[in-house]
Amino acid sequence: MKKFFFYIVVIVCCCSFVCSKPDRDAKVLNQPQQVGVSPELGVKLGSDTTVREILVNSDIPPDLQRILKAYPDYIDSVDYNTIFWKDGTTMIYDDGIKDKTFEEKLDNPDIEDMMSIEYIKGDNYPNPPPANYDPGRIRYEPFFEKIYGENETEVRSFLVKVRWMPATVNKSILITSANGVNRQLQAVSDELDRLSSELKKYVNNPAGTFVYRVIAGTNRKSTHSYGIAIDINTEYSDYWRWDKTIDYKNKIPLEIVKVFEKYGFIWGGKWYHYDTMHFEYRPELLIE
Ligand SMILES: [Zn+2]
Repeated sequence: MKKFFFYIVVIVCCCSFVCSKPDRDAKVLNQPQQVGVSPELGVKLGSDTTVREILVNSDIPPDLQRILKAYPDYIDSVDYNTIFWKDGTTMIYDDGIKDKTFEEKLDNPDIEDMMSIEYIKGDNYPNPPPANYDPGRIRYEPFFEKIYGENETEVRSFLVKVRWMPATVNKSILITSANGVNRQLQAVSDELDRLSSELKKYVNNPAGTFVYRVIAGTNRKSTHSYGIAIDINTEYSDYWRWDKTIDYKNKIPLEIVKVFEKYGFIWGGKWYHYDTMHFEYRPELLIE
């Protein structure tokens, strides 16, 4: 009988030890609290901007914490390898497949791959970018489909018009209202509108925003398909696919780029596979 009680005690102790191990079950919760930012205006990204309470947990990859901060309206919480969406679904961060080549990462990425190349905002980016330095060009499509729409009809249902640079161009362009991207682009537009005419020439004839299509030469969906991208004036642009070689070229001034980056848009001009007219909304790569 004594032996029986001994075993019971051992089992109870083991159970409570296992149950109290918190690491792998720890979640970071999204606790939105905007500080001094009107939702009507673009939300500037960076230290003086959106402030969200994050319970720091060493078990949560920093890139996942960044994703949580960047998409507060859609993501409820994250744990060490999972995104918990507000619609009740989940997504895995690391698919466990190691040693993917760069091409494999492009064609079959997970969210970890998507975040694997650091985007450097401002002036001090690698220039020219070294081979395959393409921050943001690896995209896990289900992630974007979840937010911006799974098919053309769904994406179109979120599209709204933005007046592009009303004081200079006043052209109507289509952009998604999902995730507030239209407000972010309007903020970019308003700021570009205040630049000198010498700088405005790079952005005064936008070449396109929403087009439901795959990227030329691939089966991958372009971010233009989600209504989160804009191509600025093609007259001053360079694109690696237009060139016979992949020798980095750029004519777009960094003053333009910095305005876009401030509001969550990354620039294709920082890629080895350069596309200097292209900007897309990717706050997870810019948020600190
Ligand atoms: Zn583009």
